[in-house]
Amino acid sequence: MDLQKYYGYEDVFIIPNYSNVLTRNEVSTDVTLGSKERAFTLKIPIISANMDTITENRMINILNEKGASGALHRFMSIEDNVKEFNKVINPNFCFVSIGTNSDYKDRAKALYDAGALNYIVDIAHGHSLMMKNTVEWLRKEFKNKIMIMAGNVTTPEAVQDLESWNVDAIKVGIGPGSVCLTKDVTGVTMPIFSAIQNCSNVSRVPIIADGGCKAYGDVAKAIGAGATAVMSGYFFSGTDEIPEKAWRIDNKNQQVPIYRGMASSEAMKTIRKDNLPTPEGKSILVERKGSAGHIVEQIAGGLRSSYSYVGATNTREFQAKVKFGLKR
Ligand code: 5GP
Repeated sequence: MDLQKYYGYEDVFIIPNYSNVLTRNEVSTDVTLGSKERAFTLKIPIISANMDTITENRMINILNEKGASGALHRFMSIEDNVKEFNKVINPNFCFVSIGTNSDYKDRAKALYDAGALNYIVDIAHGHSLMMKNTVEWLRKEFKNKIMIMAGNVTTPEAVQDLESWNVDAIKVGIGPGSVCLTKDVTGVTMPIFSAIQNCSNVSRVPIIADGGCKAYGDVAKAIGAGATAVMSGYFFSGTDEIPEKAWRIDNKNQQVPIYRGMASSEAMKTIRKDNLPTPEGKSILVERKGSAGHIVEQIAGGLRSSYSYVGATNTREFQAKVKFGLKR
């Protein structure tokens, strides 16, 4: 059997290139996302992950203020979901989430009535009949008025299927997440750098690289590989703007932040009462990181610098010029 090689962010590096960029301030990291009827710009191509220890309204509002975006999680009642959405200051620049079973129709309708326009349908295995049925229902119900980002997938075949189901963006990444156990529990995964390259090579809609960014420079690698934006939970874990439920009291009576996978046993216990599947995520204590606003500014600074190292003043130029080396 001929096995192909696949690479993660840690396996590759960006090769410097002649640059006539005079200052990093002339570099733009703007990207465009949206539906067929309505485009919007992210000045910083970062979206905080739709996880219950990462993104509620406070995270979205601070990231929006800086020009990035956030994805509200769905692990709450429909009523609370709408309440959280209503606290978002710029609803046009945030994402809401729905799953593919039980309450997704009611949740989508309630959020739509509240004014939500950007939807993420994400499940562990997005290349599936459940995804097809959900996306088709959303399109029929809300036409092209809403943006649909669907995932997670990792293969060109999945990208082509999702496109044929009429999605506006595709979320790529199975197994790279920092609190993910899928690769250990199931043996199924795909190193994220290659997944982005393979998917963006065939995709006509934006690719969102989800999970696995550890260093700020991984964002540049994702975008260089063809992603339009990056989703991260890790970068924003432990920041001042995480939801209240992400705080614990330790044995010294100090408040400590946790970060947990949505398929960790701890998270699943709060979502469903019985029939818990084998966990594919874990829960970890994380360090306090200060404001998410500062973190996202640091990421944006690193990204602008990456562009200037390869002689690019914007994302299109960066993607055309960037060359990667393999570490080993
Ligand atoms: P990170 O930024 O921590 O590397 O990755 C965040 C991403 O991990 C999320 O956006 C989501 O796609 C994925 N994720 C979240 N929870 C779980 C989980 O419990 N198991 C797995 N396999 N992936 C998860």
